[in-house]
Amino acid sequence: MEHEEQTTEYFPIPDTIEWAGLSDRGIERQENQDAFGSTAEDEGRGKTRGEHLFIVADGMGGHKGGATASRMAVNIILKEYRAGSDPHPEENLRMSILAADRAIRLAATADTRLAGMGTTVVTLTILNEREALVGHVGDSRVYLVRGDSMRQLTRDHSLIQKLIDEGSMSLEEARTSTRKNVITRALGGSEVGKPDFFLTAPLFPGDSFILCSDGLHGVVTDDEISGIVREHRPLDACRLLVDLARERGGPDNITVVIVLWKP
Ligand code: CA
Repeated sequence: MEHEEQTTEYFPIPDTIEWAGLSDRGIERQENQDAFGSTAEDEGRGKTRGEHLFIVADGMGGHKGGATASRMAVNIILKEYRAGSDPHPEENLRMSILAADRAIRLAATADTRLAGMGTTVVTLTILNEREALVGHVGDSRVYLVRGDSMRQLTRDHSLIQKLIDEGSMSLEEARTSTRKNVITRALGGSEVGKPDFFLTAPLFPGDSFILCSDGLHGVVTDDEISGIVREHRPLDACRLLVDLARERGGPDNITVVIVLWKP
């Protein structure tokens, strides 16, 4: 099978975290507008913070715009977070996400080819052996697999989720809706891309966090995701999940980052 992997990264961090990330163009799209990254890539390169930040971003916009927006989001958030001076990680992260939002909007205004670009973003920060912080804007997701169960930690900023919350759409209708890709919040959008945050505590050994774009969760079910993540190490699980999304037609770019907490 032809399989274009845009990026593969794998950085085991001794004793605490094992993680992997994979981003794939999918079958139907001409280019990959998703991006991911982590401060864990700094390991051995003078990393200064004790925490690890992981990001997935799903860009949107015309040719060039979407890919530019998601890449800018990942790069700027990583850079600002590393440099951040606020002692509170949540505040540090908020400032980093808002800095990316401003920069993307500015770039979209300065270059007509980038007009209208935007991106989702989900972040996971392992703060210490007890707590993880999740942040998000848009419809990319973070799940937590713990033992036999999997929980979606984020709540999509999407029209569909809004209709479900209002009681005017059922989960069944949502699954087949043609308006799946309408999101209500984004970085680079007309309104400030305000992030939501969730603190997850306590952490348990064996917890796996999954960050992914809708190219995965739109075609692969929660049960399938949790089954694969439970039974495989992060890099193998990333590959299997991307392959499964492609087998389902790969209608969109597919990006998944898996972080296994194993102190
Ligand atoms: Ca997408």
